[in-house]
Parts: sequence; C-alpha cells; structure tokens
Amino acid sequence: MSNINWTEEVVKRKAELIEETQNFLRINSILDESSSADTQPFGTGIQEAMNFLLQKGEQYNFFVKDLNGYAGIIEYGEGEESVGILCHIDVVPVADGWTSEPFTAEIRDGRIYARGAIDNKGPTMAVFYALAIVKELDLPLSKRVRIIIGTDEESNWRCVDHYFKHEEMPTVGFAPDADFPIINAEKGITDVTFNWGQKETSNSTQVSLYLSRFQAGERFNMVPDKARAMISGEREQLEKVEERFRKFLLNNEHNGSAQVEDQLLILSYEGVAAHGSTPENGLNAGVYLAQFLSGTSFQKEANDYLEFIIQYSDFNGEALGIAAYDEVSGALSLNGGLFYFDESGEAKVGFNIRYPVTTSGEQCIEKLKQVALTNNAVFTVHDHMEPNYVNETHPLIQTLQAVYKRQVGEEPKLLAIGGGTYARSLDTGVAFGPMFPGREDVAHKKDEYIVIDDLLRMTAIYAEAIYELAKG
Ligand SMILES: [Zn+2]
Repeated sequence: MSNINWTEEVVKRKAELIEETQNFLRINSILDESSSADTQPFGTGIQEAMNFLLQKGEQYNFFVKDLNGYAGIIEYGEGEESVGILCHIDVVPVADGWTSEPFTAEIRDGRIYARGAIDNKGPTMAVFYALAIVKELDLPLSKRVRIIIGTDEESNWRCVDHYFKHEEMPTVGFAPDADFPIINAEKGITDVTFNWGQKETSNSTQVSLYLSRFQAGERFNMVPDKARAMISGEREQLEKVEERFRKFLLNNEHNGSAQVEDQLLILSYEGVAAHGSTPENGLNAGVYLAQFLSGTSFQKEANDYLEFIIQYSDFNGEALGIAAYDEVSGALSLNGGLFYFDESGEAKVGFNIRYPVTTSGEQCIEKLKQVALTNNAVFTVHDHMEPNYVNETHPLIQTLQAVYKRQVGEEPKLLAIGGGTYARSLDTGVAFGPMFPGREDVAHKKDEYIVIDDLLRMTAIYAEAIYELAKG
C-alpha cells in the first residue's frame, strides 16, 4: 500500500475541498452565549458549523455523533483502539479593518481569507477530507479514526471537558492546531497568587510618605506594560520623589509620567508587553515601578509588599526556589502578571509559571506554599495544566516524523514550547501542523488566511498520517 500517491488523491478532490472550506468558513462561529440553548450551549453559529460538519460526515457514511452541542464525533474504521484527531470549529471575534469581510472567505493570491481559515476551520476541513480519502481508497484499518470536534477551544475548553467526561480517550492522537513539524513537549503551566488581606492601619508608626495604591497588569500570562502608583504625603516630599522618578526613568531609558496634585503623587510606568511564556522579551512595568519605589520609605505593609515583588520576580523562579531545567523543554519561566496593593493593606501578586516537562508540578507548588508561609501570604492556585510530553521514541512520533519527511522532504524536527496547545487534552497526543515552518502567523489577526497550497499539502499529510497510524 506504500505506493499511494497522497498528493494526487488530494488534487483529484481539490475543487470540492476548496469550495467546502469556503462554505464552512462562511459560517460565523464566534462564541455567542446570548443565543445559547440546551442543545447549542455556545450559540447558533457554533452549532451551525457543527451541523455542517456532521451532515458532511453522514454524506460520507461516517459514524457521527453530537454530544449535546459541546463536541462532535466523526468516526471511521474498526477496532478496539482509536486514533483521535482533535480540531475546533469556534473562532475568535473579529475587529475592524479587514480587506474583505471576515466571513466571506474571499480568495485572493492563492489564499482563502476568513476568520478561522488557519485557526482552526481550514485544517479541520483538511482532516475531514483526509479521512474521506482513506475511506474512498478502501484501505484496511485496525483502529478507529475519530475526529473530535471541539467547540470552545478559544474560550474555556468546556468542549473537551464534556467530551472526556462522556467519551473515550483515544489511544494516540494529534491536534492540527499549532505548528509543523511536531510539538511533542509543552511545559506545565500554572497561575498562582500570593494575597494579603486588609490590615489595621499602622498609625502608630507615623510615616511621611504613604503608598495608597499600586497596580499593574490584567492577565497572568502577559507582561504588564503599564503600572501605576499613588503616593500621599506633604507636597514638598512628593516633589522630591517626583524628581527622583524622572531621573530613574532617564537612567533606565524608560517612559513614564509623574503628576503632583495637592497631596497626591501619581506615577505611571510604561513597560513593554510580551507573552507570559517569554517574560524576557518584555519589560515588566510593575517590577520596575516597585524597584523604583523601594528606594522610598512607606508604611510597613507597603515596604514589605514592594520588597516581595523585587525579591521574587526573577524570570527563572530562582528566588522562589523553583528554578528548573531539562534538555527537552528548557528552563522554567516566571512572569509577574498581576500586582495590586491598596491602602487597606489588601494586596496581591499573581505569577504565571511554566515549568519543564520533567519537573513535578506538585513539588513546585509545595515550594511556593512555603514562600507564602514565610511571607504571611495566602497562596492560591488558580489554574494548573500538567505538562504534555510524548517521548521521541514513541511510535506516534516515529510515524508522524516519517510521514512528514516523506511528503515535505525536510527534517521532521521535534519542537518544545512554553505555550499550551489543544494537544494537551490528549493523554498521548502531539500538535501536528497546520502551520508550515516560515509561514506568517495570522491566527487571531485581521486578514487571517490559509494558503491554498498549504491546505492541499496538509490534507495529503493528514491522510497518510491517519492511514499509517490506523492501518491493519
Ligand atoms: Zn486554535
């Protein structure tokens, strides 16, 4: 069977594949909870996209199932074991400024432009036709191939939660929702906070400068690009702080502003935003402002709070005692994403931590609890995703590498990332495509597109991968 020309099989179906991808992309499948109902929890658009796919599945005589609108199944093949392909049909909202309307799926310069073109409805259609090719070639399979249709990947993953509560975990699988060649290692990710509650104001120790507010960041997984502090005190004192602040900005060649109003000084620090997985690419406005403020004496709670930020915000988690590294996925990264302090003493520091695949997340959290204890803080884990790692010797990897090498002719390198892909929700799963190396990343952006040649190429790759993973 190794003489199948997968590319040729795709070319035979090229017109239909392109047209159906356009039709699929014309359905606006943005999460819309205002139209949610029992059988369509995520709204009319997502359900319409689901029905579109399941009806296609029926036309091809696949087994299909709608799990109450939370997820869908399209399955073909026989056997105990299954190969899961995890896709999603929900798309992120659209902003203004598109060259053509985002749900018209216009073709220009060999590309289909639409929201969802690359993330993830185009690749979902590629996977569908890949399975159709395997079926139409009447190839013997010893495993069931199951396309799992996710509906809430862009928001809360309620689709996979629901799916795995009611349905089997595939033996192996892949998600066509990141990059080619193969992402086999994704760091563990956790969001944690250290909190301090209100305190009786320590009026006994009179201070001349009082930190009444400190704030930076809105999300764990972003480097804060803005920080603000409000300081009260005598005007003369405030003006001195203001002057030192201007010098501090100048020395660091950073931007910011200071403003004295009556007995209040407002400081703003401008940093550079970056993704939480790469804190070293940003400039953390919260940490820098804390650093500046630590040169001033405030009430005790404020001094302690600022000291905490400065002491524990290094990118590697060294000070927190959680630094770790492995060959496969690199070093632990730490981002201070949320900072809040007010005059009642209520305070918070929120970290986004990404640890290597061979590190124990539990041990990491134990160490953080210790730090909380010694700093009289309340420690909370808000979110924790275990690492995802499939060893390079695993047959899943070997098979996908062989297919990629055969079809693309390039080295099927294994990638490790600090981000989280959909593949994580599989026990033994990797991200496999759909973005070819060197392609511009247009997911979530205006004028999102899929290159038609890539759509065809990935369909051929997925078809061979499905066959190789499930063959008799
Ligand atoms: Zn996606």
